[in-house]
Amino acid sequence: MKKILALLLALTMVLTLAACGQKPAEAPAAGGDAGVPKIGVTIYKFDDNFMSFVRRAIETGGKDKAELILNDSQNNQATQNEQVDMMISKGVKSLAINLVDPQAAPSIIEKARGANLPVVFFNKEPDAAALASYDHTWYVGTTSSESGVMQGKIVADSWKANPDWDKNGDGKIQYVLLKGEPGHPDAEARTKYVIEEIKKSGIEVEELELQTGMWDSVKGKELVDAWLAKHGDKIEYIIANNDAMALGAVSSLKANGYFENGKFMPVVGVDAIPDALEQIKGGLMVGTVLNDAKNQGQATLDLALNVANGKDPLEGTKWTLDDKKAVRVPYVGITLDNLAIAEEAYK
Ligand code: BGC
Ligand code: CA
Repeated sequence: MKKILALLLALTMVLTLAACGQKPAEAPAAGGDAGVPKIGVTIYKFDDNFMSFVRRAIETGGKDKAELILNDSQNNQATQNEQVDMMISKGVKSLAINLVDPQAAPSIIEKARGANLPVVFFNKEPDAAALASYDHTWYVGTTSSESGVMQGKIVADSWKANPDWDKNGDGKIQYVLLKGEPGHPDAEARTKYVIEEIKKSGIEVEELELQTGMWDSVKGKELVDAWLAKHGDKIEYIIANNDAMALGAVSSLKANGYFENGKFMPVVGVDAIPDALEQIKGGLMVGTVLNDAKNQGQATLDLALNVANGKDPLEGTKWTLDDKKAVRVPYVGITLDNLAIAEEAYK
C-alpha cells in the first residue's frame, strides 16, 4: 500500500512538472470560490523534494478557505519578483513567500508595503532586520541550529555504539559533508552545529571533504561518486544537510559496492521524507531529523489566511510567535526507534 502511495505521489510530481513545462509557471489552484480570499504563494522551486511536501500541506490547509495562486519560482529571484507583481495586480489579500534568495526579503517587503499587503515568509528565513522593517511581515520555519545539534547527537551516539566504524582505528571520525545551498540559514547552521555537537560529545573529527550539493539528490550522488573515487574507505561517515542529498549518497554507495559483503558506510540526513525513512528501515541510513513539512505548511497557510481576512495572524491557531515574529516548528531526531513520529508527519 505504501509503495503504491509513493508511486502515485511520484507520478503526480512528474505530471505536475511536465505540466509546468508547457504552461506558464503560475497556475491557480482548483476550486477557488468567489467568497474566499485570494492568497499569493511562491515556492522557490517545485523541483525540491522537501518543498513539495510543504506545498501539499499549504494546498490541503487552503482547501475551501482560500483561492491559492501557486507559483513555481524556478529557482530564479527575478522570476519570483515578477510573480509577486503579477499576484498583487490580481488582487491577492496576502502573500506567502518561499524566497529564492534569502537576501531578497527587503525587495519583496517593499512590494508588499507599496500595495499595503501582509506577507508571510516561510522556509528560507529572512534577516531579523528585514522582518522588523515592516509590521505586516512574519516568518514560519524552524530554529535552524536545532537540526544540526540533533543530527550531531545521532552521529555521536551511533559512532560510540559501533567501534568498528572507525576503520583506521585513530579514534577520529573522518567525515565528508554534503552542504545545502550556501547562504541558506538552514545549510549554514546545520553545517556548523552538527560538527560542534559531535565534538562536544568528546569525539574528534577530521573533515575530508565539504562541498555544496545544493539540497539536490543528483548533485549529492555526483559528489559522493567523486569522493569515493578519491578517498575510498578513508571516509568513515557521510553527513548530509538534507535527505535528498543523503539519498544521493546512498545510491552512490550502492553503485560502489557498499551495503553488501560486509561493506558499510554510515549516512545521516535531515527532513525525514518518506524515501529516507525507507532507507533507515533497510539499514542504509543511520538516521535523520524530522523537518516537519506538514506543520510548517499548515502554519504558513493559517497565518496567511488570517491576515488575508484582516485578523490577528495567530487567531484560532495553535502557533506562537517569538520575538522575531517567527513561528518555529520543532525538529525531532529520528532513528529506527522512533520512525513512526516521522511517518505521521509526512502522511
Ligand atoms: C530542507 C531542504 C530543502 C530546503 C529548501 C530545508 O529546510 O531541509 O530539504 O531543500 O529547506 O529551502
Ligand atoms: Ca577514524
